[in-house]
Amino acid sequence: MTAARACTATSPTGPLVPGVVERRDPGPKDVLIEIAWAGICHSDIHTVRGDWGDISYPLTVGHEIAGTVTAVGSEVTAHAVGDRVGVGCMVDSCRTCANCLAGHEQHCLNGFTDTYNGVDRDGSTTQGGYSTHIVVDEHFVLHIPDAIPFEKAAPLLCAGITTYSPLRHWNAGPGTKVAVIGLGGLGHMAVKLAHAMGAEVTVLSQSLRKREDGLALGADHYHATSDPATFEQLANTFDLIINTVSAQIDLDAYLRLLTLHGTIVSVGAPPEPVPVTLFTLFDNRRSFAGSKIGSIAETREMLDFCAEHGIVPEVEIIRADQVNEAWKRVLDADVRYRFVIDISTLAD
Ligand code: NAP
Ligand code: ZN
Ligand code: ZN
Repeated sequence: MTAARACTATSPTGPLVPGVVERRDPGPKDVLIEIAWAGICHSDIHTVRGDWGDISYPLTVGHEIAGTVTAVGSEVTAHAVGDRVGVGCMVDSCRTCANCLAGHEQHCLNGFTDTYNGVDRDGSTTQGGYSTHIVVDEHFVLHIPDAIPFEKAAPLLCAGITTYSPLRHWNAGPGTKVAVIGLGGLGHMAVKLAHAMGAEVTVLSQSLRKREDGLALGADHYHATSDPATFEQLANTFDLIINTVSAQIDLDAYLRLLTLHGTIVSVGAPPEPVPVTLFTLFDNRRSFAGSKIGSIAETREMLDFCAEHGIVPEVEIIRADQVNEAWKRVLDADVRYRFVIDISTLAD
């Protein structure tokens, strides 16, 4: 067992505090990783706040992990000591169900094992990446290409893949008009990725406050959703809209922005059900879809795509003792555009 230092939640709304999580000794197919960087995803906050259901405390969250391999099990072939690797939202899945066999572990019919707040092999609750070490089956450990700076790699493992996957699945590319709702962690990656894929990209943000940033990230157009004229001007425009908003929005209003056969994909995960008027879907034969992270193979593809196109998240590096302040800024939509914790600052 390795006792990993951690930054841990002990209640839904209290501050995260220093803690310890026990990591199992690596089994034959396991990789022990010394974590260097951990991204802060809004899902970490939803989970701890109980937005998606009650959880047990203490819980250490974090599913955007970049670190160095420090030990490998006897049967590990994909990774070696010293490698730079990443771990995202999954640390295991059944590997035997139809979806796993088809290479879609994120849709494992027996439920994949979440990196935190999941049920581990021994029945314990998995603990995430705001910690100094983690032990993960090699299949769920991703090689980080040399072209990606280490401190910027972590957010690709959730924000990157969660936006790359729907953009690819719904064929964003030259000749398509893509809108991104919400310019936060996921949203800014969606803009960069859609732009690199060749799409015409529009940001739909609450205000014009981040307009210059959005255009610099690769957006062609930027509109404030607080302005009702936006919805009139952009009616029947987009082939694909990626909704990254962490809160409830009037999806019907956004559906009307879809052109013929257009699709809106929600990756944002507010707790409440979303009302949709069917007649809005009938017009233009519009679709409303969801998407959950991406598979391991797709994550590899995304990392290679980012390395090839020089795509990295815009990160603000923080010390472990700044995590509570960073969470508050995420909740206030005041993040530009992903906080990454320097795990070396998790003091003894
Ligand atoms: P984030 O950095 O907080 O970004 C969310 C953005 O949404 C904000 O920057 C803000 O952008 C906008 N927003 C926030 N509150 C709003 C409100 N009340 N009304 C309208 N817009 C609002 O969060 P994130 O880490 O990117 O995560 C976004 C969502 O995706 C979360 O719900 C998270 O749990 C979910 N998620 C889902 C998956 C999946 O697999 N489906 C994976 C990862 C995360 P503007 O200021 O530009 O308006
Ligand atoms: Zn996430
Ligand atoms: Zn499965």
